[in-house]
Amino acid sequence: MVKRTALALLIIGSLLGNGASLQGDKVREKIYIVPFGKMDPKTVETLRRPLERTFEMNVVVLQEQPLPSGAYDAARGQYLSTAFLDTLRRIYPEDTAKALAVADVDLYVPRLNFVFGEAERPGKVAVISITRLRPEYYGKPEDLELFSERMIKEAVHELGHTFGVWHCLNPRCVMFFSNSLMDTDRKGPDFCTACEKQLKQHVRSGDKSR
Ligand SMILES: [Zn+2]
Ligand SMILES: [Zn+2]
Repeated sequence: MVKRTALALLIIGSLLGNGASLQGDKVREKIYIVPFGKMDPKTVETLRRPLERTFEMNVVVLQEQPLPSGAYDAARGQYLSTAFLDTLRRIYPEDTAKALAVADVDLYVPRLNFVFGEAERPGKVAVISITRLRPEYYGKPEDLELFSERMIKEAVHELGHTFGVWHCLNPRCVMFFSNSLMDTDRKGPDFCTACEKQLKQHVRSGDKSR
C-alpha cells in the first residue's frame, strides 16, 4: 500500500515534470550577480533580495572576478563598461537568465563622461558601477540606506533593459533615464504600470522563442 502510493506520487511527479518542462526550465534559470574587483560582500548582498522580489527569479552571487585590465583608460581613470559585458558573456553559467556585473570603479562609454551602467537590450548581460552612488563621492556624509536604494534602482534599471524595456518618460518609474543622481533619487525602485506590462510581455515572448 505504501509502495503503491509512492509509485502513484512518482507518476504524478513525472507527469507534472513533462507538462511543465518548458516553463520549468525558464523558472530554474537564475539571475547571477558577478562582483568585479574588490567589493564588500555585504554591499553585493544588499542587491540580492530586492532583485529576487522584483524579477521573481532566483538571484545568486557568483565568485569575484578580476577587473578587465585591458578596459582601463589611464587618461580618463575609468573602465570601458562594454568590456564588463564581454567578460560576462564568456563566464556566465549555462542556466543564466541574466548576468549583472557590479563594480566599484568608474565606468565610461566613448561619447559620455561616465555611465552609471550599461546593458544589452534585450539580452543577458548588464553592468552597474556603484562608485558614483555613494554620497561621499560628492563630499556628503555617508548614508548607507541612500546608497543601497541607489544601487537597487540602478540594478533594476539595467536588468530592465536586458528584459527589453526601454527608457520611460515617467520620472517616478525605475526605467526613467538618470542624467544625474537627482533623477535616481526622485524615481522609485519599481516599474510603472506600462513598463511592468512590457517586462511581462518580454518574459513571455522569451519563453516562446526558446
Ligand atoms: Zn537606461
Ligand atoms: Zn515606466
